[in-house]
Amino acid sequence: MDFTFSEEHNMLRDMVRKFTANEIKPLAAKIDKEHKVPRELINKAAELGLLGLPFPEKYGGAGMGEIGYCIMLEELSRGCASTAVTIGAHISLCSTAIYLDGTEEQKQKYLVPLAQGKMLGAFGLTEPQAGSDAAAIETTAVRDGDYFVINGSKIWITNGDIADVIVLFAVTDKALRAHGGVTAFIIETKTKGFSVGKIEEKMGIRGSSTAELIFQDMRVPKENVLGQFGAGFITAMKTLDIARLSLAAGCIGASKELLNLSMDFAKKRKQFGKPIGEFQAVQWMLAEMAAEIYAMESMTYRAAWMCDSNIRFSKESAICKMYCSEALDRIVDKAMQIHGGLGYMADYPIERFYRDARINRIFEGTNEIQRMVIAESLLKGGLY
Ligand SMILES: Cc1cc2nc3c(=O)[nH]c(=O)nc-3n(C[C@H](O)[C@H](O)[C@H](O)COP(=O)(O)OP(=O)(O)OC[C@H]3O[C@@H](n4cnc5c(N)ncnc54)[C@H](O)[C@@H]3O)c2cc1C
Repeated sequence: MDFTFSEEHNMLRDMVRKFTANEIKPLAAKIDKEHKVPRELINKAAELGLLGLPFPEKYGGAGMGEIGYCIMLEELSRGCASTAVTIGAHISLCSTAIYLDGTEEQKQKYLVPLAQGKMLGAFGLTEPQAGSDAAAIETTAVRDGDYFVINGSKIWITNGDIADVIVLFAVTDKALRAHGGVTAFIIETKTKGFSVGKIEEKMGIRGSSTAELIFQDMRVPKENVLGQFGAGFITAMKTLDIARLSLAAGCIGASKELLNLSMDFAKKRKQFGKPIGEFQAVQWMLAEMAAEIYAMESMTYRAAWMCDSNIRFSKESAICKMYCSEALDRIVDKAMQIHGGLGYMADYPIERFYRDARINRIFEGTNEIQRMVIAESLLKGGLY
């Protein structure tokens, strides 16, 4: 067993850490207040090659695979969850779906500009009546000659209002539902019949946009069917397996930042004539945070290695998503406790991390759904 990161991965980590420290951290509070990640920041990430990082060079990427991608998301998440989620939805959800199931032509037409940051992507699955039960979507795609005509709406789509390209899931055979009745499409948002509805106000990741999408007789050429006709649900699930790993990596980055902030504070803040870090109650919280981070790192990079090694990792991905998002909630709670009243004040970043952390247990499949995926895999697979 070799648990060391390659020289290339270490260099990548240093580069993204510097980018986060210099370009993202100074803007994080403003992004949260103004509910907007500046496009220039995304462009700067693109200039560094970050928007195509996991994909092969022939598709405009850096060929760094899932391990490299997790390192990047971990480091970005030290600075600003909104920025990490904006970039994450673009890569993990939109570009990954095209990379996994797109034709060569689709990859050249869409994945390359997405990887270069010339286009921004989103992933449209959720609808008002179809959250955890994603197979219950009602948006339809009806064949009309060389086109499909799309009608319906999506809600809570990250980057939905700023995306140029959306991987969209629609019903092509209602009777079949998830088993052959859902098809994925690549749609361009400049197409007639597409519009953006409500933009949500949120508790956290406030700089990441969350939008309603409306489709009224939107015509999509048949060449834009992504993957096999009727196999859209499989595309969605494969994509989410990968996305959940990078979500877990984001939780590691936020947790490390919170531990650093807490250690620094524990050394500086004095009560009863000494630094609070000398009290055992505070030391135990720091130790427990470190232990959780160790577990999160171990499981996430092991699963990322499985992904890069073409070993099935759906169960592991669900375990990482569930465990890391819940560990982050425990860690951010301890960080708040260590900071006392100052942690609760908006002048300190802890309260922003606290609000931003909570979404990780909800999106990309709630943690209850992850438990179902894990249990199903366990019960099918026999003894552990
Ligand atoms: C900020 C944000 C960004 C998002 N971005 C995107 C995006 O880019 N693209 C996209 O397609 N979607 C996106 N979503 C949607 C997200 O994936 C869904 O919110 C999520 O899948 C859960 O669906 P729901 O919110 O409708 O909850 P529901 O499915 O209504 O669940 C409500 C509760 O019931 C529980 N529950 C449901 N079914 C079961 C069951 N069978 N067993 C046990 N418990 C169950 C859930 O775990 C949860 O606790 C986003 C959501 C948010 C909040």
